[in-house]
Amino acid sequence: MSEKFKKVTHVIFDMDGLLLDTEKLYSQSIQTVLHRFNKTYDWEMNVSLMGMHHMDVCTRIVENYNLPLTPEEYSKLQRAENEKILSKAEFKPDTEVIYEEIIRQIAQEYGKTVPFEVRIKFLGTTNRRTYELAVDELKLPISVEEYGKKFVKLTFEKMVDRLVKFKLLNNYSVNLSCWLTLIFHIAGAERLMRHLHVNNVPICLATSSAEDMVQLKIANHREVFNLLSHRVCASTDPEVKEGKPAPDIFLIAASRFPDKPEPQQCLVFEDSPNGVIAACRACMQVVMVPDERISTEQSCLATLRLKSLLDFKPEMFGLPPFTN
Ligand SMILES: [Mg+2]
Repeated sequence: MSEKFKKVTHVIFDMDGLLLDTEKLYSQSIQTVLHRFNKTYDWEMNVSLMGMHHMDVCTRIVENYNLPLTPEEYSKLQRAENEKILSKAEFKPDTEVIYEEIIRQIAQEYGKTVPFEVRIKFLGTTNRRTYELAVDELKLPISVEEYGKKFVKLTFEKMVDRLVKFKLLNNYSVNLSCWLTLIFHIAGAERLMRHLHVNNVPICLATSSAEDMVQLKIANHREVFNLLSHRVCASTDPEVKEGKPAPDIFLIAASRFPDKPEPQQCLVFEDSPNGVIAACRACMQVVMVPDERISTEQSCLATLRLKSLLDFKPEMFGLPPFTN
């Protein structure tokens, strides 16, 4: 075990943006509502709202964008949008990290960056549309076809790198469709949850979402979410008085494990700066797997910052190592 980290026995997962790709769906749905009032959702606001209770988010948005609504009225509009899209939530696929890297890398070749407002437009589009959007929005001096060629070449190279890194290449014949399927199956979140469960490490969920929203989001992943000992849904849990960055949610999550571990025995996984602060205030170590645009200052309180859950080494915290 690394000397930098202390041994833990229990693990607490955040959900939105960590296990599921829902932070992006939320951004999309907030933008849809704001668009009706001719407003644009910006990145700084997005980061500041990550991990917060639903009503706190609504209040901040109404105030910040001067909407002619009460927070309750805004909440209704937001929830209607959320319900339309949240059942699409998927485990954060590693491919998404790869696609984002590629879009950024090609933009960099031409001295361009990819602003948040543009990035939102790539969500859920086809490959062809991604190429068109990138060329148009970033004003790249190449054709859509040339962009497509670069994109496919880089995707292929990066996926092969991933498979070699995780020693999965030798078990499979050299066949692209096999590789692509495999990439989805080794999505970091599901792999880690199953690994900890099989090794009898108690795991639970601590999310700021309301219980009904959680039901919607995990609809397609019930089997994996059933591996959790319990879940704390802060927006509807009467015991959680204050949302992240207050420590309440993690302290309550720990206290509901049957053997009631001390906070120091729990390791938290988070993606948002608010969540990291909450974990620190609860005296827990926290592994942060943030959106890559989160600055190093915004992640400085995290015990460890990773690009992907696939990069996590359980033995660093005294947990059973992966064997594959
Ligand atoms: Mg989160």
